Amino acid sequence: MSASPDTPADTLRRLGARLFVRGWLSANNVLFEGGAEDGAAVVDTGYVTHGAQTVALLEHALGARPLTRILNTHLHSDHCGGNAALLRRWPQAHLSVPAGYAPHLRPWDARALGFTDMDQQFEPFEAHGFLVPGTTVRLGLHDWEIHAAPGHDPHAVLLFEPASRTLVSGDALWEGRLAIIFPELVGRSGFEAAQQALDCIERLAPRVVLPGHGEAFTDAAAAIEASRRRLEAFMAAPAKHHQYAARALVTYHLLEHRAVPRADLERWIVETPVLRLAPGERATPQERHEFARETVRRLVADAVVSEENGWIRMAG
Ligand SMILES: [Zn+2]
Repeated sequence: MSASPDTPADTLRRLGARLFVRGWLSANNVLFEGGAEDGAAVVDTGYVTHGAQTVALLEHALGARPLTRILNTHLHSDHCGGNAALLRRWPQAHLSVPAGYAPHLRPWDARALGFTDMDQQFEPFEAHGFLVPGTTVRLGLHDWEIHAAPGHDPHAVLLFEPASRTLVSGDALWEGRLAIIFPELVGRSGFEAAQQALDCIERLAPRVVLPGHGEAFTDAAAAIEASRRRLEAFMAAPAKHHQYAARALVTYHLLEHRAVPRADLERWIVETPVLRLAPGERATPQERHEFARETVRRLVADAVVSEENGWIRMAG
C-alpha cells in the first residue's frame, strides 16, 4: 500500500512553516516558527500601508517568541513594505535582502529600487545581510538554497528546500498567471531572464510551491508550462505585455487608493514612468492619452473596475 502524498499543509507542518495568503496589495508571508533557541523567520513582509496588519498577524502566530530574521525574495513594494514596521516591533531581527540590491540601499535610492518609477509608497529600511545565489540560509530547522530568479525583477531570488522539494517562488512563478516582466517596461530586457528562471525552477522540480501571491500549489510543471506560453506570447508581441502591465498596475493603484476620479487615473497612466513606454517608444502626447483612456475603458468594459459619477474603483 502506498502512502498518500503529502498535501502542502503537511509539508508546511513538517518544515515548521506557515503560509499567510494575503490580498493583492500585500504579497504572501512565509513564517518559519523555528526551534527553542533560534527564533522565528519571515519571508516577505507585505505592503507598507498594511504594516500594522502584518505585525499583528505575526504577533498572533508567534505569541511571546521573537522574530529574529526577516528576508525578502525581492524588493517590490508589496514584498518589502512591512520591513520597517517589523524592525520597529522586533529591533533585534536581522534583515536579509537579495545581494543585487546592495548598491541601492545606502544611500537609499528610491529610483534605482523602482519605487519612483512605479509610483508606489515605501518606507526606507536598513538591511543587515544579503542573500547570495549559490549559498544557503537556515530557516526554521532546514537549510534553504538561494537561487537567482531574474526576469520579473533582475535581483529576485528563490528559496528551495531540497529534502521536501519546497520552493518559495516570490513572483517568479505563480499558479495561474505570469507576473509583469518589469525590466521590459523601462526598455531593458527581461523575457529571456524570465525563461531562465523558469528553467531553473524546472530543474529544481519542486513538489510544493509557496508563491508570492495566491495559495500554495503542487503542480509546478503545469504552472511552468503556462508561464512559458504567456512569456512566448509576450515576446512575440511586446505591446501585449505593456497592455497587461498597464492593467495590472492600474488595478494595484486602485487597490491602494480605492477610488480615483477618471481624469486623475488617466493622467496617472500617462505620467507614471513605468508606463511611459506602454503606447510605444515614440508615442505622441495625444497617443499617450489615448492609450490611458483605452486602458480605463477596457477595464470598465471587462468589469474589473466600475465607474460611478466619474470615480473609478475596483468592481465588486
Ligand atoms: Zn514583484
